[in-house]
Amino acid sequence: MFEQNFNENNNNIIASSENDKSEIKSKKIKRIILILVILVVILILIITLVLVLKNKDKDEPNRETVQDFVVKGIFIDTENFDKLRIRKGFILVENGIIKSFKETNPNESLKLYDYSDKLILPGLIDLHLHAPQYPNCGIGLDLKLLDWLNNYTFPEESKYSNLTYAKKNYELFVNDLAKTGTTRAVIFATIHNEATLLLMDLLEEKKIFAYVGKVSMDRNSPDYYIEANGAENTEKFIEECLKRNYQYVQPIITPRFTPSVSDSYMEELGLLAKKYNLSVQSHLSESKFEIELVKELRPNDSFYAESYDKYGLFGKEIKTVMAHCVHSPDEENDLIKKNGVFIAHCPTSNLDLSSGISPAKKYVNQGYNIGLGSDVSGGHSLDLFEVMKYSIEMSKLRNIYIDTSQEHITLSEALYMATNKGGSFFGKVGIFENDYEFDAIVLDESLVKNYKEFTESERLERFIYNKNAKIEAKFIKGNKLF
Ligand SMILES: [Zn+2]
Repeated sequence: MFEQNFNENNNNIIASSENDKSEIKSKKIKRIILILVILVVILILIITLVLVLKNKDKDEPNRETVQDFVVKGIFIDTENFDKLRIRKGFILVENGIIKSFKETNPNESLKLYDYSDKLILPGLIDLHLHAPQYPNCGIGLDLKLLDWLNNYTFPEESKYSNLTYAKKNYELFVNDLAKTGTTRAVIFATIHNEATLLLMDLLEEKKIFAYVGKVSMDRNSPDYYIEANGAENTEKFIEECLKRNYQYVQPIITPRFTPSVSDSYMEELGLLAKKYNLSVQSHLSESKFEIELVKELRPNDSFYAESYDKYGLFGKEIKTVMAHCVHSPDEENDLIKKNGVFIAHCPTSNLDLSSGISPAKKYVNQGYNIGLGSDVSGGHSLDLFEVMKYSIEMSKLRNIYIDTSQEHITLSEALYMATNKGGSFFGKVGIFENDYEFDAIVLDESLVKNYKEFTESERLERFIYNKNAKIEAKFIKGNKLF
């Protein structure tokens, strides 16, 4: 009996211990399952977080390149040269093109860039500058044109045969240009194909519209900076540009100026301009010494511009921009106007290199195609507001000392040259009109404010004259650079 009880008890103990074991086991399993579930949930959360962050990164550039939007602000532009147009309201932009100006928001479902009380101008157009001379800005300006070229310009430009040097300096130039009010530019590079293409790649990447010229020069140049097979090099450069299928930059035929280009090379450049339907840029009647030099080289021409015109490099069907035209005689001016040649008026450069005072007011009044150029580094700054200021001030000196019959350039005329007229070299650019490309800059007046109340026109004038003025936002054909 005892033995039976003992066995039963023993069996019960064994059974209960087995029950305990299986209970512990099932608890363990449950715990493991719970831990697994928690781990899976954490994993799902991490994956979701990563995906959200990834999409956020993708959204950032999209937000900046969105093409359809509305901009609110105080828009100042120039329909004609004689007065500013000032309008408060909204501009609707679709695919980079201005669709309408309204006093109320035309489409509240679109992204709104709200610059309510800020002044907004069309982007500024620089019709003449030399990118490789950027490191020389503000130096060597106690020299005149020809000495300055030999002592500063040619030695600097020759360095761009070295691509490492070119990359370093062109990156700096393009980044600095992007920060200014300039939205489009017509640019001289150097005689080097590779470095010039590199500059074009950088501008294309930044989405800055530009004509870029590989410079042509085969005479009266230093041994270390002169072309041997110029026409062949130029054609190779053009072909490479076509292959790269740029959207924002394009090549432009660029004889440096008549003293540096032989007649035969000039003729070949004329043929290339025609063959590839390219525009042309060069210098004309900048200084009196230069004009004398051209007379010696081409005694049969009546005036300097004939040295381009005889080879099909001076307007008509070939769109052409000539820098300076400070000392152009009447016959030359007649040809400029007749052929629709653009004048790049570069007043900072004309003063810095003691070249002379341009009759720019006459060109404006008489309906010439005249825009502004910084002419870096003959001009000391990339800033076109500085160039606008000099255009006004230099014209006052001309009025006082040279030609009392012409008044000085006004604020609206300076803005007209920097936007509307200069913009027409690029097409439908430079004014806030329907069907025009939306290039715009928003002015940051925070550093030039004081307690006086100003009209919009006075605000613009103060901005132009004040070195502390900055750009708050910049659009090029609807692309927001910053
Ligand atoms: Zn120049």
